[in-house]
Amino acid sequence: MIPAAFEYHRPQGLPEALHLLTEHGDGARALAGGHSLIPVMKLRMSAISHLVDLQDIADLRGITVGSTIRIGAMTTQAELINHAGLATAAPILREAALQIADPQVRNLGTVGGNVANGDPANDMPGLMQCLDATFTLAGPKGSREVRARDFYESAYVTARAEDELLVAISFAAPAGGYAYEKQKRKIGDYATAAAAVQLQASGGRVTQASIAMTNLSDTPVYSAAAGAALVRTACDQSAIKAAVAAMLGDINPVADNRGPVDFKRHVAGIILGRAITRAFSRT
Ligand SMILES: Cc1cc2nc3c(=O)[nH]c(=O)nc-3n(C[C@H](O)[C@H](O)[C@H](O)COP(=O)(O)OP(=O)(O)OC[C@H]3O[C@@H](n4cnc5c(N)ncnc54)[C@H](O)[C@@H]3O)c2cc1C
Repeated sequence: MIPAAFEYHRPQGLPEALHLLTEHGDGARALAGGHSLIPVMKLRMSAISHLVDLQDIADLRGITVGSTIRIGAMTTQAELINHAGLATAAPILREAALQIADPQVRNLGTVGGNVANGDPANDMPGLMQCLDATFTLAGPKGSREVRARDFYESAYVTARAEDELLVAISFAAPAGGYAYEKQKRKIGDYATAAAAVQLQASGGRVTQASIAMTNLSDTPVYSAAAGAALVRTACDQSAIKAAVAAMLGDINPVADNRGPVDFKRHVAGIILGRAITRAFSRT
């Protein structure tokens, strides 16, 4: 379908963009890569009368790599994949981004759009929870920071107010082994289940573990219990089984065209087991 008529705005800076969002209220939406927003408009699922295109705003771009990593909201998934410093400092990002959609989508789809959208099927929200990332939001009253683990309230509902923009994502450079494992029906599909795992080990034993799951509830699921089940273990089969059992207690999948609930829970367990095994092998 053709979208309903809308006015297009192309602000040159953050203050102008925030002013436009405040001025047009509920009818206004930020436009990043448009790969989620434009389909919604075409299906007329949402009445949007003003599009605020973020592409010229320099403050939303750029990747900084140090002990803290900062990624501007308008960074595309392709830019993430091709950034050499990031591939070394936080390789889980590249591993996950390569499993998102296809090159055409990744050339336009942004990290900010992926995490701000609140779509439980998107891969980056769970990944950011695994990395314990912080989202910097800017609004008419100034800036504030929200942890990724506190950001998601329900499907498409987040802690971001309508007049706020996501500016950047920051997290401590992760240490140890990592894995992003995703089961999908075909190349380019969203996850049936996906797992993000970061592990640290010393003397053959896990010292820290962070685990988050994708598309298995109406929000991404950070499973503190699954991580805790691995700590102080040698990451053997019984420890992995305990972590999977703990994760299964935290997810709440629903039946849809990716399968019934029992199937999704089964896939989630297999995927997490594989991710833990690979992450531990990389410590
Ligand atoms: C065929 C196809 C397959 C896909 N498969 C996957 C997949 O497997 N995994 C996956 O994770 N994703 C997938 N995607 C989604 C894609 O990767 C993008 O991440 C996603 O469309 C959102 O990014 P965007 O830049 O396109 O955002 P947009 O569509 O422009 O925006 C999405 C939403 O976020 C809001 N928004 C955007 N930027 C900001 C900001 N800075 N501040 C506040 N709000 C903002 C917009 O207002 C809108 O509501 C797929 C998309 C397509 C079309």
